[in-house]
Amino acid sequence: MSISKGLKLTNTLTRSKDEFVPIDASNVRLYVCGPTVYDYAHIGNARPVVVFDVLARVLRQLYGKQNVTYVRNITDVDDKINARAAQEGISIRELTNKTAQQYHEDMAALGAMPPDIEPRATEHIEQMKDIIEKLVAKGFAYAAEDHVLFHVPAMEDYGQLSRRSVDEMIAGARVEVATYKKSPMDFVLWKPSKQGEPGWDSPCGISTPGRPGWHIECSAMSAQHLGETFDIHGGGVDLTFPHHENEIAQSRCAHGTKNMANYWMHNGFLQVEGEKMSKSLGNFFTVHELLETENLAGRKWTGLSIRYALLQTQYRQPIDFTSKNLAEAEKQLGRWQDIISKAGVHAKENAAPDADVLQGLLDDLNTPRAFAALHKLSRAARQGDKQAAQELADSLLFLGFDLDIYAQQKQALAPKKQVADTQLQAYVEEMISKRLEARAAKDFATSDRIRDELLQKGVLLKDLKNSESGEIETTWELKA
Ligand code: AMP
Ligand code: ZN
Repeated sequence: MSISKGLKLTNTLTRSKDEFVPIDASNVRLYVCGPTVYDYAHIGNARPVVVFDVLARVLRQLYGKQNVTYVRNITDVDDKINARAAQEGISIRELTNKTAQQYHEDMAALGAMPPDIEPRATEHIEQMKDIIEKLVAKGFAYAAEDHVLFHVPAMEDYGQLSRRSVDEMIAGARVEVATYKKSPMDFVLWKPSKQGEPGWDSPCGISTPGRPGWHIECSAMSAQHLGETFDIHGGGVDLTFPHHENEIAQSRCAHGTKNMANYWMHNGFLQVEGEKMSKSLGNFFTVHELLETENLAGRKWTGLSIRYALLQTQYRQPIDFTSKNLAEAEKQLGRWQDIISKAGVHAKENAAPDADVLQGLLDDLNTPRAFAALHKLSRAARQGDKQAAQELADSLLFLGFDLDIYAQQKQALAPKKQVADTQLQAYVEEMISKRLEARAAKDFATSDRIRDELLQKGVLLKDLKNSESGEIETTWELKA
């Protein structure tokens, strides 16, 4: 029996859109390279998180929640971390814990579910050393000057993922020429730690303490949690080379396997307002900044509008992230909110998405196609088709757009009434309810008097008719 469920994925390894067939349908395994936790995640870092969150949702829908394992690591050992901790005068642990927590909060605001397992590099040093020892024992790596290096020419089919020429690879890897390298392509598996840097007992009989190179952690953590060969490995397109190429070299040579992962998926890059995001151009935004500050277009944005803007483009295409797209996303989510609430339906937890929405996603996560299907449902719902409204709500929830959460996010953005003090607030609210009572009793003289008295105190009342209940509701603000 075929265990394919019609999902097609563009596989960087084969350069084609392939039918997804898991190794074991009762244990579908996905690994995504996670953040290096030294600073807030920027909006580009959020793209793989949101894209692979959608993939995890699709896999769970097709194979069953309990049959999918999604692993996304946390890189908590890195030179950038050491430098930032020293700069802030805090311990490395404090910095990585604080940053990981911010990351969790920001990604949750984008509607991304946490992965099933979130391993940390520093908790897998022994597994990394095991792989390094194996590579040396098998002749794929060597120790020199307190480093251990992977010897690229020892692997016959090195470079299958990125398919670059040796010259391009040397340029792309920004390989340092070092006396301890046998070949300029060789890359670091382990390096010595200087005084004050985090260090562990070294492998391969090296007597000084050291720390892992960049790529080895993903080989160790994926093998530990998903096995020596698993189904899908993902990340941004910039990771194809050297990071993923070197992960493959380490894992395949250590374990003697044909593939590390069968499908390699890479999301395209994000730029902001037409330009490569960079601090010097002033178009560099962290997710936290978009949520909590008014740095982009003079206002705060909701997490789910950001999610929408990230999914508007198919994941492999480059995205131009603009405040205009965010504003459109917000409008669209607002329209859907209205349509669904007018239809009096509510999204059902764990409901299957509409068939056309799912069809779009099965075609290499074609989110624009899935969105087109949502628009079709919303047109039908607007014309009174309650079933379509239900399917719209269910499909939105499936895609990570929880409209209850969206309402809370919008609420949190609404400008707060400037309340001078809580006493004033209590007084105004009491007067408003007296005025509403007077109006109900058709005592308009009293109701007008209360309004005027409040106005003299600088409090402006506004009466609005609730479109559903037909009742008058009064809000207030302080006159400017
Ligand atoms: P890093 O912390 O730099 O390793 O990046 C974490 C993830 O974000 C990786 O999967 C990167 O490929 C991805 N990434 C970084 N910058 C961008 C960008 N501008 N657009 C899309 N993905 C990005
Ligand atoms: Zn990785």
